[in-house]
Amino acid sequence: MSGKRILITGAAGFLGSHLCDRFIKEGFHVIAMDNLITGDLRNIEHLFKLENFEFYHHDVSKFVHVSGELDYILHFASPASPIDYLKIPIQTLKVGSLGIHNLLGLAKEKNARILIASTSEVYGDPNVNPQPEEYWGNVNPVGPRGVYDEAKRFQEAMTMAYHTFHEVETRIVRIFNTYGPRMRLNDGRVLPAFIGQAIRGEDLTVFGDGSQTRSFCYVDDLIEGIYRLLFSDYVYPVNIGNPDEITIKEFGEEIIKLTGTKQKLITKPLPVDDPKQRRPDITKARELLGWEPKVSRAEGLKITYEYFKSLPVEVIEKIEHKDFTSYNK
Ligand code: UDP
Repeated sequence: MSGKRILITGAAGFLGSHLCDRFIKEGFHVIAMDNLITGDLRNIEHLFKLENFEFYHHDVSKFVHVSGELDYILHFASPASPIDYLKIPIQTLKVGSLGIHNLLGLAKEKNARILIASTSEVYGDPNVNPQPEEYWGNVNPVGPRGVYDEAKRFQEAMTMAYHTFHEVETRIVRIFNTYGPRMRLNDGRVLPAFIGQAIRGEDLTVFGDGSQTRSFCYVDDLIEGIYRLLFSDYVYPVNIGNPDEITIKEFGEEIIKLTGTKQKLITKPLPVDDPKQRRPDITKARELLGWEPKVSRAEGLKITYEYFKSLPVEVIEKIEHKDFTSYNK
């Protein structure tokens, strides 16, 4: 693959930055793009000295120009945590609609293969568990999560339309909850929230009674799945995630054990439309890509905890965890 050119949008984000690392390692020329609304240049700082890396500070909701040839595009630009997309709902809708239109147009123009980041949120608050790709979902379009869920659903529809009508080579990954180094401590997600609280000596805030479930995938596993999907010939959506399901209450107890904190679990109101269960059916990924997760939650959490502990004290102390239950009203 040496010398192939790939555009990665959302490159300074959690997943985007890990994708940059992987494609650099595989010998690609990486063109990174981010508007830095939720991304952080510190995630890709180490790549700037490389010849086969370039960065553009650009919002892909506006016309995207890349000069020269382009072989692949990975569209990972979007706010992706409930706190973020509730704070910036319009940008979330724009990047999922105007942004994808620009990038599909670019893919068509350059004859590039494009892979888009979709999400388990397309299943909404699912009525079936685990969720196979054939499940159409249970989404509230006008609820607080609607701006993200519907943007991602539109993005999938637009991608399939470009595939069908313009014969653009497209791939769609539906990403389930993923964690690992470079997650933002203040992105509101449960894992950085719990670990941050444990490090600061605060109680861990469980939303609702904690019986809702999630299934957490370590970032290296996810990146491997995406890499395999890009080079497969399958155009329909593929779930990538770890099927090891756990309740949020049990997860909180795991974090207490891991960090050795003396704090306890406390409850806060459950946010509106918070999915009650989430677990990927990964039969397709297993059969089509020969992929399944390799890193256990115990191993992945240990690495992630070490990462958070290594952050400068100011970063950890500065963060005041805000839940988004206020959006209930
Ligand atoms: N959650 C929680 N305490 C927190 C943050 C989140 O109990 O401080 C819950 C949240 O209500 C949800 C689950 O943890 O049921 C996962 O939330 P997250 O925001 O990480 O992701 P998503 O809901 O998008 O899966």
